[in-house]
Amino acid sequence: MLPHSHTSDITEQTPGASIATILSAQTEVPISCDSCGLDTDYRIGFLRKLPTISCQYCADTRRFSELEFDVLGQVLKQMGYFLAR
Ligand SMILES: [Zn+2]
Repeated sequence: MLPHSHTSDITEQTPGASIATILSAQTEVPISCDSCGLDTDYRIGFLRKLPTISCQYCADTRRFSELEFDVLGQVLKQMGYFLAR
C-alpha cells in the first residue's frame, strides 16, 4: 500500500527525514481486490466517502468500509504520511 510517487501531491523527502508528509485528497492509493488480488488505484478523497469500488481487472465490486479507511490511515501514518483533512 505505497502511495505512488508519480503523484505531484507527495513532497519529496530526503531519506531518513522525519518530516511528515501530508497526502491530499487527490493522492491515489492502491487497494487490493479480494477476488483477484490485483491493485486498483483510488483517490483518498474518493475512498473517504466509503464508496462501492470496482476492480479494473476482474470488475469485482465491493463496499469500501470505514474500518478499511481507518486501517489505510494507520498504515500511511506508520510510513510517515498523514491524510489531509
Ligand atoms: Zn479483481
